[in-house]
Amino acid sequence: MEVVKIAKLINGSKISQDIKKEIAEEVEELKRTKGFTPGLGVILVGDDPASRIYVNNKQKSCNEVGFYSETIKMEESISTEDILQELNKLNNREDIHGILVQLPLPPQIDKAKVLEAIYPEKDVDGFHPVNMGRLVANQECLVPATPSGIIEMLKRENITIKGKNAAMVGHSEIVGKPTALLLLNEWATVTICHIETRDLKASISDADILVVATGVPYLIKGDMVKEGAVVIDVGINRITKDKASQELLEWRKEDFEKKGVTLIGDVDFLKVEPKVSYITPVPGGVGPMTIAMLLKNTLKAAKMQLKI
Ligand code: NDP
Repeated sequence: MEVVKIAKLINGSKISQDIKKEIAEEVEELKRTKGFTPGLGVILVGDDPASRIYVNNKQKSCNEVGFYSETIKMEESISTEDILQELNKLNNREDIHGILVQLPLPPQIDKAKVLEAIYPEKDVDGFHPVNMGRLVANQECLVPATPSGIIEMLKRENITIKGKNAAMVGHSEIVGKPTALLLLNEWATVTICHIETRDLKASISDADILVVATGVPYLIKGDMVKEGAVVIDVGINRITKDKASQELLEWRKEDFEKKGVTLIGDVDFLKVEPKVSYITPVPGGVGPMTIAMLLKNTLKAAKMQLKI
């Protein structure tokens, strides 16, 4: 009889709900015992529909856990100076403990200058060079939400990181680099791959933990992954019906019938899943963790500012 192995799906939606519940309980306790509510300020520039959806979701999640939240909407045509003025106000407000500027910003804006203007202790996205530097030095800091969500998932599934071979495919400032550093800080032996990596398959084939964040659908094929590995697929790729393979059309039949589109990651899930021990689905894997960890960062920032 053929034995068919099935990997355990890491359910990011469920884990993120658990985290939100824990945060809501802690906020309730803070309100009761200290009369204090954590606050998040968001700057949203322009009218990008995706950014608007992200910001609305963040605001909704803030309400769910009992945070105060405020979105400052600014015109597409504003200058770097205009954003710096708003940031200065938020930096100095006592009811705002976390600040984030929704990316991307219009081309005329100096993104580095804007991100560096956020007080590091209020930088809940963790993109400020001070927080990045502290992460490199393995010091207490605010860590970008998606990378810390990845580590949180591994820990909550009781997956050992220490001593393991880990590979990070993608080296962006938002996902790849901080994730590689967090894995290193947890004592994994980390390989980082990027567009210039000569032989991707050889570089990841020994990875016990494989994290992929490239935005390239089907980049990771079944024969590239180690038997029994843990696979974290960060990629989010929107595939329309006309671009879908026959296999995808059948697998995601319902999505295509209802919406004409489906979301997949960077990993060839149907080929990789039978080989590995754990895998994150797309959607419902890393995605929901990002907002949960942003909330966790806001609570952490608030507690640090109140010296709790
Ligand atoms: P970026 O485009 O900033 O980075 C992509 C990285 O992948 C780059 O380092 C790039 O290398 C590398 N890369 C691209 N093609 C290859 C290849 N063929 N082989 C090896 N490396 C390659 O994207 P992000 O890191 O911001 O996001 C990555 C993906 O994760 C996207 O699909 C994004 O939508 C998703 N995402 C999901 C989140 C979630 O909450 N689930 C949050 C953030 C992102 P190089 O720079 O050298 O070209």
